Amino acid sequence: MELISTRNSDLTITPLEAVIQGLAPDGGLYVPGVFPVTDSGFIDSLKDLSYPELASRIIGLFFDIDDLNDIMSEAYSSFDTEEVAPVKDLGSMGYVMELYHGPTLAFKDMALQVLPRLMSRARKYTKGKDILILTATSGDTGKAALEGFADVEGTKIVVFFPNDGVSDMQKLQMVTQQGKNVLVSSVNGNFDDAQSAVKQVFSSDSFRSKAKGYRLSSANSINFGRLAPQIAYYYHAYVSLIRKGMISNGDRVNFTVPTGNFGNILAGYYAKRMGLPVNRLICASNRNRVLTDFFMTGEYDSRREFFKTPSPSMDILISSNLERLIFELTERDSGLTASLMHDLSSSGHYEITNSMKERLKDFYAGFTDNGACLDTVSRIFKEYSYLTDPHTAVAMNVYSEYMKETGDKAPNVTVSTASPFKFVTDVYASLTKEHISEPFRAAIELSSFTGIPVPVQIMRLKDAKIRFNNVINKDEMEKTILDFIR
Ligand SMILES: *Cc1c(COP(=O)(O)O)cnc(C)c1O
Repeated sequence: MELISTRNSDLTITPLEAVIQGLAPDGGLYVPGVFPVTDSGFIDSLKDLSYPELASRIIGLFFDIDDLNDIMSEAYSSFDTEEVAPVKDLGSMGYVMELYHGPTLAFKDMALQVLPRLMSRARKYTKGKDILILTATSGDTGKAALEGFADVEGTKIVVFFPNDGVSDMQKLQMVTQQGKNVLVSSVNGNFDDAQSAVKQVFSSDSFRSKAKGYRLSSANSINFGRLAPQIAYYYHAYVSLIRKGMISNGDRVNFTVPTGNFGNILAGYYAKRMGLPVNRLICASNRNRVLTDFFMTGEYDSRREFFKTPSPSMDILISSNLERLIFELTERDSGLTASLMHDLSSSGHYEITNSMKERLKDFYAGFTDNGACLDTVSRIFKEYSYLTDPHTAVAMNVYSEYMKETGDKAPNVTVSTASPFKFVTDVYASLTKEHISEPFRAAIELSSFTGIPVPVQIMRLKDAKIRFNNVINKDEMEKTILDFIR
């Protein structure tokens, strides 16, 4: 398997080397040179496998690594359920696949428990240098990356989060992170500010020369090492429905995905391209509805107001992974992809061609505003006795609208991306109309109201020591990193 850059299809690289590089030197993203093909016999052969075994079958289609099975069983051993990603039946709401049973209670663990292990196998590409991971986070990536990389030999990781852009629990998770090789800092501004400042540091020659003892890399979802593990759980969901007798092998299934940076849903699209019988991919956005507008009009326009919402991990106006879809929509024309992406960075928008628009029909897109999101948390609890976090609620509301609009009866799996206890204040308020600002008290009250135990991953934070309480300005990031690695 070779990967190519979305901005230059002549540029080829092995998947392990791409894991170290993150972004291609031309600014493009790495994608498979050809999609591996999985037929119905292959899907049938997954039926009796455990989650780690299934994941290594899928990831093994891309990565040639001897001990992949061991990597996967290690990666998912810290999950709080042996199923890893339980698929539940909500009757008329379809199925829910819970991807939040990892150490940090968000779906990011599905890939970020794997990525550091892939990087360790890729050390031969770093010429003996240690790897320095720089990450800006809207909340969940940061913690999951910290947890994945903590005390991993030959790596250091620095995470910046927007000072008032994350939930209380998300912040506590990060500032209490253990590990000798980690640094966490809060930055004044919103996520896009932190993200663009990190990108600036990355491309600064003066920074690079001062940090030349290190190989810089990224844990963001543009890294191909995060994409491959995400493809696996789409197969897992499909096979779970076969096992439960809900579908036969070959039946087509919808997936509804709460979307921000377009990484999760893109993995579903890749699964479809590889032969998984996927019908529609339903792309659900919050009030920052830049993707909904894109799918409706063919114009991507980031020149708009940025809103804070109850689903902060989807508060984003530049969805980086969309570039990988654009590349497919152009029928793999890397010149056209590069020129559209340059339009985006120079003018904040671009419009795709008519023939590209016709290829959008694998998708349906919708958005859920803030009020409707919190109402959905409460409606789903009342109607289905199922507790959902605000990100997943955004998706469930869009799926309800999709059913109303299309009457599509194909089975649907809503991809659930976070534990409700991570966003406990809003979740509790939407169920009870009562606001408790102290997060642990809210968690205990939410637990007694719903009968669902508070996850140990949350309870552990209560007495955890705060290790990082620095708040800096954007222009201090470079110095903060250099002080840490010196
Ligand atoms: C990251 C995240 C998302 C968005 O996923 P993308 O891959 O960025 O589209 C949705 N929900 C939660 C809880 C997340 O952490």
